[in-house]
Amino acid sequence: MNTVFFDYNSTTPIDPAVLKVINHINTEIYGNPSSLHEQGREARKIINCSRQQIASLIGASEREIYFTSGGTESNNWAIKGIAPLKERGKNHIISSVTEHSSVFETLLFMEKEGWNITWLPVDTTGKVDPEELRDSIRDETALISIMSANNETGTIQNLEAISSIAGDKEILLHSDAVQGAGKMPLDVNHPKVDLMSLSSHKIYGPKGVGALFIRKGVSLPPLLHGGGQENKRRSGTENVAAIAGFGEACRLSQERLDQDTKQLMHLKQVLYNGLSEKIKYIKLNGSLEDSLPNTLNVSFPGCESETLVLDLDSQGFAVSAGSACGSIGSRKSRVLKAMGLKPAEIFSAVRLSLGRATTVEEVQDLIKTLSHIVEQFV
Ligand code: PLP
Repeated sequence: MNTVFFDYNSTTPIDPAVLKVINHINTEIYGNPSSLHEQGREARKIINCSRQQIASLIGASEREIYFTSGGTESNNWAIKGIAPLKERGKNHIISSVTEHSSVFETLLFMEKEGWNITWLPVDTTGKVDPEELRDSIRDETALISIMSANNETGTIQNLEAISSIAGDKEILLHSDAVQGAGKMPLDVNHPKVDLMSLSSHKIYGPKGVGALFIRKGVSLPPLLHGGGQENKRRSGTENVAAIAGFGEACRLSQERLDQDTKQLMHLKQVLYNGLSEKIKYIKLNGSLEDSLPNTLNVSFPGCESETLVLDLDSQGFAVSAGSACGSIGSRKSRVLKAMGLKPAEIFSAVRLSLGRATTVEEVQDLIKTLSHIVEQFV
């Protein structure tokens, strides 16, 4: 059976143009980019070209882009990298309860290391209140870490206001843009952020590669020591083919942003309208407009998320009960709980995330199948 994929926030298929680049490099360009000979120089050139493509997607300079193994490493580096500030009496971080586990768990680790963390609450749509953020700033605050868009609900944070507060107080601002990049306009200078995490496999690139934007002048010691690659900030021989694929994926995302946004917003609207017409008890989690164009999180009180996911799977549809990590681990979404959902709404939530290949016919089929499944339970 061919699976119809409605789980693009967990990962995306590699775009054919990206695959072509990866295959070419894997077969033709095998040099170590640190080598001085021709093959090495070729590989180095490719990495530098990708760096430019990634920088261009977020309005950065290529010297501010550092390759990592993905969003998780970038988030770990951005947060753990501020550790030396503790020596100067800065021992406080502000974040939100709805961050991805690669930020959330890293902050719990920092808490055990003696850092004070302020976990900002969110409103019913999943947004942090910038004024609450302002009030939680202390003299000791070293970092503010707020994601650009949420992986479970697609909620887009007000980075404009958050950045202006961080700037006024001269506090470092990190944003996990793993879900936002390629799905919404991002520019590290408007609003200004100091650190931004990116991941390739959410934007039709290969898995296991990502980047951290580090603003020029921001001091962030390396997480990995060794041969001194990435300007002595991230050691390890570069995965040239994956980096090149990531670069091409960024180039395509930038080129297609307007077209993709229009198409996905339309499909999401069709999906939500169709489900609302057919299913009496449906709850939208988050906002339809102020969220990623591809993400719809809805609850069907009376049903169970896992049952919905498995029943849909048996009928050829891949959807998720929350974040990909959350569906293996804890059943209870900390994101939906923070938004004030009732237990019956949390336990019946599904995340439907659309992508470039999604068609109206697929959306209509999902509406039909999902409404039949829900009918059996309520
Ligand atoms: N941040 C967010 C918002 C995510 O959705 C994810 C992946 O689901 C990550 C970070 C982790 O990225 P990666 O899978 O590249 O480690």
